[in-house]
Amino acid sequence: VDIEELQYLTRFVSDKESHLVIKDHDICKTKCKEKYCTVFCPGEVYKWEGDRMFVGFEGCHECGSCRIGCPFNNIEWRYPKGGLGVVFRLA
Ligand code: SF4
Ligand code: SF4
Repeated sequence: VDIEELQYLTRFVSDKESHLVIKDHDICKTKCKEKYCTVFCPGEVYKWEGDRMFVGFEGCHECGSCRIGCPFNNIEWRYPKGGLGVVFRLA
């Protein structure tokens, strides 16, 4: 599936609380020079701003990549509460 198409076909219902949490910001800052999450996340959820990782969780596609993609296992990932999170429209 083309990711642009997927983005077009989805809408997001935001939860108030992030289902994605950086466990230790110091690890991102000092140990992870490459900031892999800013590259592998198709939703562009992770943005490195100066000295801190910002998590725009509303854009998450729930692809699950960040659970395996962070080499420091530094992202806590939970499924959003029922009814929230990504919703796929029926074409
Ligand atoms: Fe932090 Fe993991 Fe992202 Fe690296 S890949 S910046 S350790 S969350
Ligand atoms: Fe990005 Fe996928 Fe992780 Fe969501 S689950 S933050 S879309 S890598």
